Amino acid sequence: MDAVSDAFVREIWVQKSAQVGWTEILNNVIGYYVDQDPSPILMVQPTEEVAVDWSRDRLAPMIRDTPCLRGKFSDERTRATANTLRHKTFPGGLLAVAISNSPASLASKPIRIALFDEVDKYPISAKQAGDPLSLGRVRTKTFWNRKILAGSTPTVKGSSRVEKGFETSDQRYYFVPCPHCNEFQRLVWAQVKWSEFGLTPEQAVYQCVHCAASIEENAKADMLARGEWRASKPFNGIAGFHISELYSPWSSWGQMARDFLDKKAFPETLQQWINEALGETWEDSGEKLEPIGLMERRESYTAASIPAGVQLLTVGTDVQDDRLEVFLYGWARMKKPGASSTRCCEAIRGRARSGKSTTISSDAGSGPMTVANSASKRCALTRAVTSPSRSIAIAWRASVFACGLERASRVPDGRAGPRRPARARPGRRCG
Ligand SMILES: [Zn+2]
Repeated sequence: MDAVSDAFVREIWVQKSAQVGWTEILNNVIGYYVDQDPSPILMVQPTEEVAVDWSRDRLAPMIRDTPCLRGKFSDERTRATANTLRHKTFPGGLLAVAISNSPASLASKPIRIALFDEVDKYPISAKQAGDPLSLGRVRTKTFWNRKILAGSTPTVKGSSRVEKGFETSDQRYYFVPCPHCNEFQRLVWAQVKWSEFGLTPEQAVYQCVHCAASIEENAKADMLARGEWRASKPFNGIAGFHISELYSPWSSWGQMARDFLDKKAFPETLQQWINEALGETWEDSGEKLEPIGLMERRESYTAASIPAGVQLLTVGTDVQDDRLEVFLYGWARMKKPGASSTRCCEAIRGRARSGKSTTISSDAGSGPMTVANSASKRCALTRAVTSPSRSIAIAWRASVFACGLERASRVPDGRAGPRRPARARPGRRCG
């Protein structure tokens, strides 16, 4: 709230865990501007349902129960009211509630105060209009004293909006004093201990990084009261705050330890815990492949290696734990079931099963072509890459689909070829 009323702060990012009071902070910001500095305000919520719930269950009670706000909004139940769940007016300003996937609600009147809630749950684009955050941000351009607040529980590293926003800020963390040595420190999960002190997870304590003494849960309230925000980067007009459940007065270190043990077994639940309890992004621990290494493993192909009759190629990749399954499909025209089409099919199969290493140039085929769904025949050429480090120069393995005329063949090593489709579907698995 201090940053909100700081004239030098034009933008605020909050990367947070769940249930740390972020929505209440947004409500307080709205209350402040309605009462003290009336302005056009925009609140952006990820979905229509969340927006309606927030307006009805969080905003309306605040207005109803706060004397200085109560008289400033007319009653929604009266006729001809200017106030609805999504749009409210008050003397000197208005409050509009927008939805992140609705370009119309994001791009209309100029806004001085823009509030973005749970930005990591926004779609990449508001329909075809572009990034919802950018759309809302543009509306503040005409105000020299604009203020932008955005916050969220983070999601996946690299694609998290709130993480990117926080990284542009001065990155403030809350430092609290140790009750034993009075040294200030940022609370981190690695210092929550139980077995080291012979305790159960529910009895977990915090070990001071300075004096190594164990800090009991009941000391937290006093530590929080004496704490302070400290920036880790120079201030550039953007204030950033990171807060986790470790600080929450509504949770305990023991509850967090229990939750962690319950959820650490599966990546999905562990990700949820890291996002929602620690306020940190999730990073996959799988093997990484540097792009340059992948580029070095390219191969050259020639048009001569394409089975006769193939007129269009599509390729797709199925990512497995230890390999990439690459599917290359050749598409051929097929006449009505009859002798001529069978001959065509045999020709393709014979070529594909020859076991030779085949190569196909990137401009192979005969250019863009239309392949009729119901009259096409698919020749599926597959190969497996068994590990990222192994050469991908593996002979083509093939199986042939013939639109109900033949069974899917089996590849030479005995594994079944790609499943036979119910009907030909050009574009399936197209990468
Ligand atoms: Zn200490």
